[in-house]
Amino acid sequence: MTAAALSAYQPSDSLLAKFRRRAARWHTARPLDAAPKRTRICFTFDDFPKSAADTGAEILDEVGAKGCYYACTGMAGTENHLGKLFDERDLKALTAAGHEIGAHTQTHLDCSQAPASIVLSDIDANLRNLVAMGHDAIVRQFAWPYGETRRDLKPRLATRFDAVRGIHAGVNRERADLMQLTALELDANESSVERAAAAIENAAGEPAWIFVFTHDVRDNHSKWGTTPAHFRRLVRLARDTGAVLETPSAALDAIMVKERA
Ligand SMILES: [Zn+2]
Repeated sequence: MTAAALSAYQPSDSLLAKFRRRAARWHTARPLDAAPKRTRICFTFDDFPKSAADTGAEILDEVGAKGCYYACTGMAGTENHLGKLFDERDLKALTAAGHEIGAHTQTHLDCSQAPASIVLSDIDANLRNLVAMGHDAIVRQFAWPYGETRRDLKPRLATRFDAVRGIHAGVNRERADLMQLTALELDANESSVERAAAAIENAAGEPAWIFVFTHDVRDNHSKWGTTPAHFRRLVRLARDTGAVLETPSAALDAIMVKERA
């Protein structure tokens, strides 16, 4: 199957699938055992397209922010509706610039549907391929493709990753599930920009660990992407609130080590 076909896949809409999704969400696999004392915002990109690595990183660099790129290695070097996808040079350049590389499965697998053994071997293939592509840093972060997971799977990832991001809308505070952290999506719908902006502004008064995620960053973006102007507006707003704009691992370490009561 091509990367385009894989990423155009839509998760099941059946009642059973919806029930499993809800059961997974309600079951906290690994609670965040500390309250963020200041707001930390992670700008993140899924899959990930070259426009995120180029334009997205440039916009983050303008304010000294560091982001995270969740790499689906089966998409590397290909092109789909998100545009051209990342390659080895992007991994190297982003890492050298202080951004973080996260995992995102080898085949962009719907982890809620596949047996656990298939999910785990797909994740391990993703990690092996990142090493084969020259990325030899320890990969501490993962994002569920489509945000999909299952209750029995989440604890299995706690031995592989320090934190795992989902796509349910929200910001994270004490007791948040480190195996399915909530996030603010930036997509083609302009209201997504307003929602993210409002959540970032609100967190100025009540500290939170915030993930923003998108895909391609370009003027002719996909419905899962955003424009450079919208992305820049949000990054600058985040900076102006006084939040720390850093990688997920840096945020987690700060919350667990420095901010723990
Ligand atoms: Zn994805």
